[in-house]
Amino acid sequence: MSEIRQGAVTPITHGEYTAMNTQKVIYPGTFDPVTNGHIDIIHRAANMFDEVVVAVAASPSKKTMFSLEERVDLISEACHSLENVSAMGFSGLLVDFAQQQQANILVRGLRTTVDFEYEFGLTSMYRRLLPNLESIFLTPSEEYAFLSSTIVREVAIHGGDITRFVPECVQNAIKQKTA
Ligand code: ADP
Repeated sequence: MSEIRQGAVTPITHGEYTAMNTQKVIYPGTFDPVTNGHIDIIHRAANMFDEVVVAVAASPSKKTMFSLEERVDLISEACHSLENVSAMGFSGLLVDFAQQQQANILVRGLRTTVDFEYEFGLTSMYRRLLPNLESIFLTPSEEYAFLSSTIVREVAIHGGDITRFVPECVQNAIKQKTA
């Protein structure tokens, strides 16, 4: 019986997988600006892991509404009550940032199947670049499944009410930008 089991299961050898630091995870994105959908995911990750680093991509190719520093500051302010959450900017490859941080789990948010297609491709690429980096996917509360930073910016630019979609600090920051 035990021989059959041994034959059926591929043994995990040392070197193929290394022990994971499950204490610290990275939640990367552009966060231009952070929305209540992002905050929902941050809360879920903060409940699951010891430390969550929200990694804000410099994204020089994207014309962002908020500078990198502003995006980091808005997340820090919105998450000030969560002791195990911090926000940091990074440029260059996410896999390099993850290694610098000694974190080997990425958290990503999945809203719909549209996100899945994109995230699946991204995860496959990260795995080729850094095999020990694992990605986990969390879904937000239904009310945020339609929400994106792009929609929030569009609504705000045209004078719509965004109070239900973003933290208060972001509402104020957008008001100043669009004034
Ligand atoms: P990107 O990383 O593509 O620039 P964002 O900065 O907007 O996108 O988002 C960062 C991460 O948060 C991604 O995993 C994205 O799928 C996820 N996300 C964005 N908006 C929401 C939302 N409303 N609910 C859950 N996850 C979200």
